[in-house]
Amino acid sequence: MAKVILGDRVSSYKVLAVCALLFLNAGAAFSADKLIALTFDDGPRPYVLFGTKDHAGPSLLNVLDDNGVKATFFVVGWRLTPKTWGERRHEENVGITCIDAAEQLVRRGHELEDHTYSHIELRGAERKRGEQWVIGDVNRGAEAIKAVTGTQPHYLRPPDWIISDDARRDLERQGYHLLTISQQNPIALRDVNSLDYLWTRASLEYPKTSLLDGVLQQVQQREKRGVYTHILAFHELSTTVKVMPELIANLKARGYRFVTLSQYMQLVGARP
Ligand SMILES: [Zn+2]
Repeated sequence: MAKVILGDRVSSYKVLAVCALLFLNAGAAFSADKLIALTFDDGPRPYVLFGTKDHAGPSLLNVLDDNGVKATFFVVGWRLTPKTWGERRHEENVGITCIDAAEQLVRRGHELEDHTYSHIELRGAERKRGEQWVIGDVNRGAEAIKAVTGTQPHYLRPPDWIISDDARRDLERQGYHLLTISQQNPIALRDVNSLDYLWTRASLEYPKTSLLDGVLQQVQQREKRGVYTHILAFHELSTTVKVMPELIANLKARGYRFVTLSQYMQLVGARP
């Protein structure tokens, strides 16, 4: 009986089969779109981007170039003032200013976005100095970037992701897109916090897993939830640069493609 029905309906089954194939192919194309937006905060730090004078370890710009990766840098506005090369206490002067470094980043195809001017925790600053100060500090950071790149930044990552709801809303009204780790946002638009700064201090404190494993584990956890697009939040740190070649190779081997944040948002943010 079933055979008879099948025979009668063979053409409609064919149509169904073709539809199913098309659907599967569409699904494959969708899942093949595995994206990584690499981001680095707190620079520009010339000694990280270009390497130190004694060539201890790779330079971040070389690692990115060698791998054909364009990244996004959330830079701190005060660094983009003339003759500034970084913080005397922690950073090495390699004879390149932060402004020169920023120009070089843009020339090599990377993006610069806003990490405020002062790099002060914004909720505390708002309590002390008011919301207008916070908005002003964000705008001042944007102006410093625009003075170097000629382009108005669109994305803001508040230091430590901390900002009041009021300031967030007002900055969004101004046209900023704020990066977040808040669970209120879709997971694909939430930053993956690499916690890379923990590895700069006594690595003895965090020996349980390596920086590389920690990030890959977070990516895998998101994959288990069906998410194959990730914004990875790192800092401009020598310890971070050291793991980059392996991290990039590992993610490429898993089929990931590296894009800048604005490309990422166009591809991911527009999805329903
Ligand atoms: Zn920061």
